[in-house]
Amino acid sequence: MALNKVYRFVLIAIAVVSASASFGQKAVKGYPVAERLASYKKISLKTDTSLLSEAERKCLVHLIKAAQKADEIFWKQAFKEKSKALEGIKNDTLRRFVEINYGPWDRLNDDKPFLQGYGAKPKGGNFYPENFDINTVPPNFRERLMLPYSIVKPLSKADLMPPQPKKGEKPKMPERPMMMERFPLLNGNEIALIEYNSFFEQDLQLVLQEMMKAATAIEKEDKLFAIYLRERAMSITSNQYILSDIKWMTLKSHLDIVIGPIENYEDKLLGTKTSFEAYVLVRDREWGVKLEKYVSYLPELQANIPVEAAYKPIISNNTGVNQFDENGNIMPSGDMIDIPGYPPLQKPNASLSQLAVFDAVYYAGDCNAGSKTIAVNLPNDEVLQKYYGTRRSQLKNTMKAKFEEIVKPISQILVDPSQQKNILFDAFFANVMFHEVAHGLGVKNLVKDTIKTVREALGADYSAIEECKADVLGLYMVTQLFNKGELTGSLDDYYVTFVSSVFRSVRFGAASAHGKANMITFNTLLNSGCIVSGKKGYYVNVVEMKAVIEKLAAELLHLQGDGDQNGVAKMLQERGIIKASLQEDLAKLEKAKIPVDIIFDQGIDTLGLKAYDENEKSAVKKEKK
Ligand SMILES: [Zn+2]
Repeated sequence: MALNKVYRFVLIAIAVVSASASFGQKAVKGYPVAERLASYKKISLKTDTSLLSEAERKCLVHLIKAAQKADEIFWKQAFKEKSKALEGIKNDTLRRFVEINYGPWDRLNDDKPFLQGYGAKPKGGNFYPENFDINTVPPNFRERLMLPYSIVKPLSKADLMPPQPKKGEKPKMPERPMMMERFPLLNGNEIALIEYNSFFEQDLQLVLQEMMKAATAIEKEDKLFAIYLRERAMSITSNQYILSDIKWMTLKSHLDIVIGPIENYEDKLLGTKTSFEAYVLVRDREWGVKLEKYVSYLPELQANIPVEAAYKPIISNNTGVNQFDENGNIMPSGDMIDIPGYPPLQKPNASLSQLAVFDAVYYAGDCNAGSKTIAVNLPNDEVLQKYYGTRRSQLKNTMKAKFEEIVKPISQILVDPSQQKNILFDAFFANVMFHEVAHGLGVKNLVKDTIKTVREALGADYSAIEECKADVLGLYMVTQLFNKGELTGSLDDYYVTFVSSVFRSVRFGAASAHGKANMITFNTLLNSGCIVSGKKGYYVNVVEMKAVIEKLAAELLHLQGDGDQNGVAKMLQERGIIKASLQEDLAKLEKAKIPVDIIFDQGIDTLGLKAYDENEKSAVKKEKK
């Protein structure tokens, strides 16, 4: 799942700047479109292209083009074809706002419609017929209709009978029919299910072509990446993602692309349909090496957690080694995973989990809509997660942009001036990263009833407690590694920066799991006097905070290990809330017009790679001559 997708933005500004085109599509009267657009800070997505080889530059151009095609598919899933959506919008500001929202609903303002003529955003996006209700489908067909890589649409006469030529007209060559499954409704009508590879066939062929060109460009330098690109292209056009997902997890390549229908945030009706998106990435190898080292300390860190042994089962580093063949496939070790609905899968000897750092050079589709993701944990398939693990990718340049444009300005308003010097990007980056690593610490199953998972025991409240645990144990890891001499700077940097980033996260309310987690930590620190609210801002007592963080870590691990639902409910009720005094402070941020999020200036041109695109075009022209 991606972080930062569930922001709620409370609209305080009431300035009236509506689009004033004399005809065409207009903004809702009184909707502050210009103000809302200005609340996003535009940043350029760049990477050091001097570190890229010629082949990598060529490959990157095609990866971006593939991503752009995925973007067009997302438009159709969320609203309608992009060119049609923007048709008739004369006002540039309004046009840009529709573009960044992928439609006429304001994503960071509870999806309020801002274009005239539109009501509430359909919960089911374009994945289902208008006003679709799954209860109108006979129960035995429901599961099939919820397939993640398919759309549901009304069955029209045109679907059943191809249009007949009029008198005197030559009969046209029939188009290849869409592969659809028909389902009866309880009221006697019918609906159709169409898988993505059929429904979006034309768009997906273009994605495939770019992926294949990217593979050709890179194959001499990085054979395994080229193999992945071809396998992924086949996945996208066959609707079968399992094998290329596994291949992706084994990659160590310099360039990377996450592409396909992945997250299900856009389907707010049933939460099962996946949206197209793409991240084009350039790996930060230097950071990758550091991370591997930190991960290797996990067993030692787990052993040192200040809690009874039962709440910190031994983590072993000796989980075996995977052998790969020359095409990057895991070599057979005898054990197979046999699960209905999945192809026969080789059981790995060790988890494929990776913690990696990238620069993101292109965001497309779902991940580019609304709040921008700074860390991605994939794949989402729970079977793959169980047997192969996940890859947690930190997007360093986007993280840096959010830090500079949002976290830092917020701190300048809310943190005591004497501690401003401690608010540093390196500390922010480390905190986010160790949060991710810390998800691997603690217990997964209850201490007394070891068959039951913590997730099962805590139900809906699990996520908030798990996120809080990751925050707190992440900070605990930072402290331990700092004491070992593995981290630079001063410990104050990490602690003060931690408190500063809480303000960024809770700015949009404590509704999400991350928001609640942040408030539990913040209120615990405030109640125990480690954070003091003064006239000039919040002051952090680092020495006291160290002890309180350890105590809170133990408290959370006990709640998890005991599966203590009542204890969790009490904690959330008392500490998972934004108190009035903080709310007043947060209001200062609105007044100061600190950006709510970032938008990107991105693409081939932004990266200075236009020549690689044009060279190719002119080469084609020459061939034609
Ligand atoms: Zn987390």
